[in-house]
Amino acid sequence: MQVLAGKPVAELIRERLRQEVAKLRERGIAPSLHAILVGNDPASSVYVRAKAKACQELGFAAQTHHLPAETQPEDLFHLISSLNRDAQVDGILLQLPLPSHLPTPQFLSRIAPEKDVDGFHPENVGLLWQGRPRFVPCTPAGIMELFRFYGVELAGKRVVVVGRSDIVGKPMAALLLAAHATVTIAHSKTPNLEAVCQEAEVLVVAAGKPALIRAAHVRPGAVVVDVGVNRVEDKAWVMRLFPGDQERLAELHKKGYTLVGDVAYSEVAEKVRALTPVPGGVGPLTIAQLLANTLHACRLRRG
Ligand code: NAD
Repeated sequence: MQVLAGKPVAELIRERLRQEVAKLRERGIAPSLHAILVGNDPASSVYVRAKAKACQELGFAAQTHHLPAETQPEDLFHLISSLNRDAQVDGILLQLPLPSHLPTPQFLSRIAPEKDVDGFHPENVGLLWQGRPRFVPCTPAGIMELFRFYGVELAGKRVVVVGRSDIVGKPMAALLLAAHATVTIAHSKTPNLEAVCQEAEVLVVAAGKPALIRAAHVRPGAVVVDVGVNRVEDKAWVMRLFPGDQERLAELHKKGYTLVGDVAYSEVAEKVRALTPVPGGVGPLTIAQLLANTLHACRLRRG
């Protein structure tokens, strides 16, 4: 079984970006990413900090606009509009989820499509489905890089995507279709998930349900990509999922939780040809791809 690690793929993307940003900087241009964080969701704060750090490492300019949880819609609209107008701003990222009184689709639609580095604006979603992408959502774009890096064939293959979110499942399906795969999207209302997944030569799982996919779901020899990131705190469960994995238990003991994917790693690993680990699989690719999109945004506007 081949472990499809994300780090070497991310490092390759980062190296390419480092060189391209250095060239732009010689011309006095620093591609810039502006993140908007509303409220104090701990996971969102961690992600935004990680994005800012990656920007710094690669020579991008980064700024975080931190607004209080009780921010009113007009104030958020105002900030987005001013970033849209600012010629120094290349990419705008609205960290999700927003507090419940702020309607996400309305704000995503307000971001200038040419600065929408997450690829969530309806115009960019439409372009993606028409097969002429401008900004591809970062996680599925990263997974396509992973397939390229490890030489996973997609043309003519039966691929099943579990999950139909706007962030992962749907754009993933669009990219796989464009790569000539035969694509099925399964979701929480799909009857007999096991039988649907068993058809997959390539299985991409983004459900946010720890260990949803068991050995019985996978076809022998399949390639499996596990997008899920779930906190699991129950020691007995961790021992069942990762028998004999002392590192996991030590992590659980130290932090009070361990991060687990949507795939029951140990039992599925015995049956498949290749599998991404969690953590260390898809995760590292998402941020690298965000920076690639920011560089693309900079090039589109500034040449
Ligand atoms: P989401 O909650 O928006 O969507 C989950 C999807 O899974 C839904 O379409 C739902 O229908 C489907 N689903 C839920 N339960 C199911 C079940 N029992 N059977 C079949 N389908 C089921 O989540 P999302 O934003 O797409 O994220 C999915 C997971 O991926 C989460 O764990 C998230 O943390 C993770 N994620 C990781 C990265 C990364 O960079 N590694 C990026 C984005 C999301």
